[in-house]
Amino acid sequence: MISKLPDVGTTIFTVMSRRARELGALNLGQGFPDYDIDPRLAELVAEAMRAGFNQYAPMEGTGSLREAIATKLRLSYGLERDPQSEITVTLGATEAIYSAIQAAVGAGDEVIAFDPAYDSYEPAVRLAGARCIRIPLAQPGFRYDWDQVRSAFSARTRLVLFNSPHNPACVTASAGDLDALARIIRDRDILVLSDEVYEHVVFDGARHHSVLGHPELARRSFAVFSFGKTLHATGLRVGYCVAPPLLTRELRKVHQFNTFSIAHPLQEAIAGYLAEKPEGGRGLARFFQDKRDRLRAALAGSGFALPPAQGTYFQLLDFSALSKEGDLAFAERLLTEAGVATIPLAPFYESPTSLPFVRLCVAKKDSTLDEAARRLGGFAERLRRGAA
Ligand code: GLN
Repeated sequence: MISKLPDVGTTIFTVMSRRARELGALNLGQGFPDYDIDPRLAELVAEAMRAGFNQYAPMEGTGSLREAIATKLRLSYGLERDPQSEITVTLGATEAIYSAIQAAVGAGDEVIAFDPAYDSYEPAVRLAGARCIRIPLAQPGFRYDWDQVRSAFSARTRLVLFNSPHNPACVTASAGDLDALARIIRDRDILVLSDEVYEHVVFDGARHHSVLGHPELARRSFAVFSFGKTLHATGLRVGYCVAPPLLTRELRKVHQFNTFSIAHPLQEAIAGYLAEKPEGGRGLARFFQDKRDRLRAALAGSGFALPPAQGTYFQLLDFSALSKEGDLAFAERLLTEAGVATIPLAPFYESPTSLPFVRLCVAKKDSTLDEAARRLGGFAERLRRGAA
């Protein structure tokens, strides 16, 4: 068989989690919490199964969950969205991204993606027969160069893949970035796919700028969100896509043949949970900011530098003062010699990067973060003494 993705292996997240398990290392690689979910959510899942929500859910998502999402959009952003025609429940954000890309682009089309970009974007574009044009985020600070984006547009450009808060760069887009994006796609036949799964994890008092709150962008955007992130339960695999009716109609044509419909008892439970806690994500920024700050404080003076983290589950670690190795090699040493699994940034780039960063997940128990900092600090100390 001829591979359609000959250069693609198993994702770095899966590989690192597997190796962390094999080696008994602390896993700060793949982004998932290691603490318990709210027991009430577990109760609601059990109740939903007992109440008989065990057969196919409606293809577009249950009415109750789509209503709950509409309420959440109203409370979070003051936005009115029609659950019938504008909200679709998906198998996590990954399915929403995949299905939206299949719906939006085809053979010969071009899609703008940034470098670094989350690893699922480009394979989804290629499987649709289209091609990614990668635009680097500028250093320092992973900044957008909108003129460069505009120069990369061709008559074949159909979609821009946008992501804020950004994984893995840990930066957030400004209102000005959204304006610039709207300006350059105005008068062109270009859509936006906006990955906003970390919408509630924005730090230091800043607020998230959703494309949904930008009327011009909202008219031509698929916006993608995740309950896994918001409910500290990445194993739920329940996300959703908000898009204008025309785009939603096309998205659902793919979704119905891709995952068809999403676990019924989970949708019922999440709808019930949101009804009980409608303010949902409000405490998340504080919760994760405290974890970010704890890890940063514990690593201060270690020899690792800590670039600013404006949002997401993650904190980058800059190892340039300690080692001149590449990020893949350094992540391997952290895993095998320090006992800490991290994520190198190379897999998020079109071609290998020379950036001296690995990504740490802060969505962990305080005790896990403390032990990881202790191991990383000890390894840095050995490197500084030339003993490692
Ligand atoms: N979103 C997770 C991360 O960035 C990975 C999820 C996955 O492994 N597909 O770490």
